[in-house]
Amino acid sequence: MAPKPETLAAFEAAKGFMPLREGLALYEAAAEAAALGLPLLEVGTYCGRSTLLLADAAREAGVVAVTVDHHRGSEEQQPGWEYHDPSVVDPEIGLMDTLPTFRRTLHKAGLEEHVLAVVGRSPQAAAVWGGSVGLVFIDGGHTDEHATADYEGWVPHLAVGGLLVIHDVFPDPADGGQAPYRIYCRALASGAFTETSATDSLRVLRRTTTGL
Ligand code: SAH
Ligand code: MG
Repeated sequence: MAPKPETLAAFEAAKGFMPLREGLALYEAAAEAAALGLPLLEVGTYCGRSTLLLADAAREAGVVAVTVDHHRGSEEQQPGWEYHDPSVVDPEIGLMDTLPTFRRTLHKAGLEEHVLAVVGRSPQAAAVWGGSVGLVFIDGGHTDEHATADYEGWVPHLAVGGLLVIHDVFPDPADGGQAPYRIYCRALASGAFTETSATDSLRVLRRTTTGL
């Protein structure tokens, strides 16, 4: 299973933090999960790079990809930090705003109608979310506070048989921050998941039981 060539081209052209190899693994997980007939859920839209892949899989299966972001950027994307991009600052208010870039990315790829964009904080969205989802992709804030809230907020909405995908999992602290790794360990320790694939820092786990 692979994304359409035009989706891949849009992905390669999009701003963001998802390498191709991991993107292809994400797509595979999304295509598999979409067969459950439930929405695919992403935390951390940024400029829509990974969202394109979820949207492509959602289109194939006739489901919707839901993507949540306040669009103000994570800690490490703020001015003065390593991953800051001045071209995504709203000059009028002086804060990051990745929503316009995201919308352009999605529009150019012809995938707008397969995506529901939720603009706001992930825990607040999770708290009002009513139904089950077939995939939870966690790629939002990388502090323990944010990663834990994403896990605790969204995993209860994940259907049994659905997939939990976590990005930026680095077992060795020398390679990166540990918060995504800690929620990955927590998922495995819960006994409710089995790992189905690992591609660089992207981990895919299947929910096997209702207990958490
Ligand atoms: N998936 C993207 C990268 C996401 S970067 C890609 O493929 O390129 C992480 C994003 O998470 C940022 O855009 C940031 O605004 C968002 N974010 C961080 N903490 C958040 C929170 N608590 N709620 C919603 N969005 C959050
Ligand atoms: Mg990431």
